[in-house]
Amino acid sequence: MIQLQNIEKIYRTKTIETVALNNVNLSIDKGEFLSIMGPSGCGKSTLLRLIAGLEDVSDGAILINGEDATSLPPAKRGLAMVFQSYALYPHMTVRKNISFPLRMAGLDKAEQERRVEEAARVLNLDSYLDRRPGQLSGGQRQRVAIGRAIVREPAAFLFDEPLSNLDAALRVGMRLEICELHKRLKTTMIYVTHDQVEAMTMADKIVVLQAGKIEQVGSPLELYQRPRNRFVAGFIGSPKMNFVEGAAAEKLGAPCVGIRPEHIDIDQSQGMWEGIVGVSEHLGSDTFFRIQSDVSDEAITVRTAGELGLNYGEKVFLTPRSEHLHRFGANGLRQD
Ligand code: ADP
Repeated sequence: MIQLQNIEKIYRTKTIETVALNNVNLSIDKGEFLSIMGPSGCGKSTLLRLIAGLEDVSDGAILINGEDATSLPPAKRGLAMVFQSYALYPHMTVRKNISFPLRMAGLDKAEQERRVEEAARVLNLDSYLDRRPGQLSGGQRQRVAIGRAIVREPAAFLFDEPLSNLDAALRVGMRLEICELHKRLKTTMIYVTHDQVEAMTMADKIVVLQAGKIEQVGSPLELYQRPRNRFVAGFIGSPKMNFVEGAAAEKLGAPCVGIRPEHIDIDQSQGMWEGIVGVSEHLGSDTFFRIQSDVSDEAITVRTAGELGLNYGEKVFLTPRSEHLHRFGANGLRQD
């Protein structure tokens, strides 16, 4: 269990002060898979590095399993970090790479061997133990890096965008592997990503950060179904939520109304808002239409299941489903 209490992090140079984290409070349960997400520069990596002990907090406290770890050096925190650059030693075999932290810690040979075999089994690396990193694929190298973390039997794994160097197909495969690993090891995992599909599919709990502040903490579905403000509403979900303001929004009972693309009905003869079909994207499983309409400055995105043939420039009508409206006040906060 990891607790962050009133965490502040300010980076100071001679001329500039950057507030990277501002009064962050967070509790991560034992065995939980927590994802930290937010736009570039919002403080994700800083938060992970503070937990790891690679940076000092400017203020606040970090508790690990109830003990104050705020000024403990990284090695004493019992956490293992996995980076996007695998940082493997090219001249060492997979076996030597994985056992490296154990050799450094002076563990006896038999115990080293037992832990390496166990990690290799969990990660399906058994038949690669005598290869060098150069003889492995990107995904296998990433597994070796994870193996090196596993053998330390950490209280938690900290992942910093571990999949961003991999190609799209491999990312999906590794995503499933890490989920599988979490189910089997049941160890706390903290996972930084800017990829919302990763966060939504892997995490038990997501923290959304913006400019060093927590905007919302919740399960993936809580964030999707009940975003507590406009920022989270626009950040979670792909394609993004549509926002309608002005008279059309007032009619629906709020200064600003958000509607997800999958919650708008489209019809050629009748509906609430009139619009003109712009560019459409046909994915086979779904179709995304961009509709120009007076109710919003930006084109409204509509998602329909399967294939729907509408022509560019055609007139259509849109009707948002009333049970799926997200109403926001002028201050950007959710109203219900
Ligand atoms: P993210 O991981 O979300 O992209 P970071 O945690 O890397 O964001 O950075 C948060 C903020 O702190 C940014 O404004 C960044 O420029 C600043 N920052 C990060 N590391 C340093 C540093 N070592 N010195 C000064 N500013 C930093």
